[in-house]
Amino acid sequence: MSDSIFTKIIKGEIPADKVYEDEHCIAINDINPQAPVHVLVIPKKQIPTLADAQAEDQELLGHLLLTAGTVARQLGVDEAFRLIVNNGEGVGMTVYHLHLHIIAGRELAEGKMVG
Ligand code: AMP
Repeated sequence: MSDSIFTKIIKGEIPADKVYEDEHCIAINDINPQAPVHVLVIPKKQIPTLADAQAEDQELLGHLLLTAGTVARQLGVDEAFRLIVNNGEGVGMTVYHLHLHIIAGRELAEGKMVG
């Protein structure tokens, strides 16, 4: 599997606006934000999509959710934020390296996916 753009960011080959990092994942500001807060939580392991995740990834997937909460708290949006995981071209996935979108900072109308 060739390196995704996110793996290149994780390796430091491409710059990014990092807001969090630990042993298992990073969080960066989205380059094309859809809301005042739009952060991506990205595992260091390059899993293409959620549907590609395996039982052995269970702990990592839990860690990503916990990290989303930590990052939301860090950014002061833990009272109101939305998580989005795109899976596949049919829903507009563009980077085939699993990531969670944290979206917050303005009114997110009920039923709207990205605000
Ligand atoms: P998705 O449609 O779920 O695959 O989302 C991919 C996201 O990655 C989009 O919101 C892009 O704006 C974002 N993105 C792509 N390249 C970069 C980059 N170099 N730095 C930060 N965000 C990026």
